[in-house]
Amino acid sequence: MQPTTEPRDAILVEKTPLETYVPPAKPSLIGLSRTELADRLGDIGVAPAQRKMRVQQLWHWLYFRGAQSFDDMTSISKGIRAELAEHFTVDRPEVVAEQISNDGTRKWLLRLPSGDNVEKAHEVECVYIPETDRGTLCVSSQVGCTLNCSFCHTGTQRLVRNLTAGEIVGQIMVARDRLNDWADREDGTRRVTNVVMMGMGEPLYNFDAVRDALLIVGDNEGIGISRRRITLSTSGVVPNIVRAGEEIGVMLAISLHAVRDELRNELVPLNRKYPIKELLQACRDYPGASNARRITFEYVMLKGVNDSLDDAKLLVKLLKGVHAKINLIPFNPWPGTAYECSDWDQIEKFSEYIFNAGYSSPVRTPRGRDILAACGQLKSETEKLSARERQALRAMAMTD
Ligand code: SAH
Ligand code: SF4
Repeated sequence: MQPTTEPRDAILVEKTPLETYVPPAKPSLIGLSRTELADRLGDIGVAPAQRKMRVQQLWHWLYFRGAQSFDDMTSISKGIRAELAEHFTVDRPEVVAEQISNDGTRKWLLRLPSGDNVEKAHEVECVYIPETDRGTLCVSSQVGCTLNCSFCHTGTQRLVRNLTAGEIVGQIMVARDRLNDWADREDGTRRVTNVVMMGMGEPLYNFDAVRDALLIVGDNEGIGISRRRITLSTSGVVPNIVRAGEEIGVMLAISLHAVRDELRNELVPLNRKYPIKELLQACRDYPGASNARRITFEYVMLKGVNDSLDDAKLLVKLLKGVHAKINLIPFNPWPGTAYECSDWDQIEKFSEYIFNAGYSSPVRTPRGRDILAACGQLKSETEKLSARERQALRAMAMTD
């Protein structure tokens, strides 16, 4: 299935071409914890006795009001504002393109300095999906992904680097900026109500930055999105699953996609390292999972590959004893993939079987297909990868 419509409102705000990118001269304060902010204030000479109060003010301006410059922070003295502006910025990742789908989904292409070679830049994508009762922001955790799941576009990308906590929080801030969604919106409503770590990258292979970022996103004196409205999706990095429950405490989603190790090894190669049995044990041990806070099992529907009724039966059997819900995702095609999405009546049969076995099994409606913004379609066009390089990356990921 190919996207049927052209982007309706593709707005390109191309600023600098990648080759002439100039990295920021000063560090941004976005993404720092309160303790780190206090240290930075110490660095510019704010007295220890004043730091706590100043941190509180800064936190409010940065994360509650969404201030885009130190000048806006009127409750902070002019002297300190000037000092701050001399050493730091409140910059978010640079938006280089914005696309708006026919269905209202928006995709932003963001530019970031490369970690090792500051003269170069990387790009990641971030997607906003409005629905009647919520607005979900799909956030990236890495540039590309080392894991190369065979059905995922991001996995075919060459360059990989972990995003910093600031670059992860920065995506939510960009969305709030662009959607006029800070605390002073006139009607008091919010556009971004939910966050899912389902963009580019494997969040549990960038644990510390993802944890630090999500603690900021969930902080109720700042961005204030409740942890129950934040979902972290993993392809199954078993050792970090329980840690995520303990240290981050958000909702968990597992990209299962297959119920037999042989097939899962092929679809999600990380399965060779952490097979299904170990993965499900980690889910049973996930702190905070309960009937009211179920773990979501994502299952991409691939025609003739994993969509038989036998698969559905085994799925139900496997999930016994796990507080689970199942999310069926119609496969979203991308240029060059060999997979096809299951036929609609097969998806319905599969879903019905699971439903009759007592699981809620919503089929996720693909959103933003016309702008390649749906699950697994994100990838920066600038960073292509040959089959051989993909193989090498996969081998690297398997041995670390
Ligand atoms: N790396 C993490 C999070 C990002 S992917 C993970 O794998 O869980 C978010 C979800 O999109 C995952 O469930 C992933 O398996 C799914 N996905 C990837 N490619 C897809 C595609 N082409 N069509 C539908 N879903 C896809
Ligand atoms: Fe990486 Fe997730 Fe895509 Fe697999 S599905 S390649 S883990 S982003």
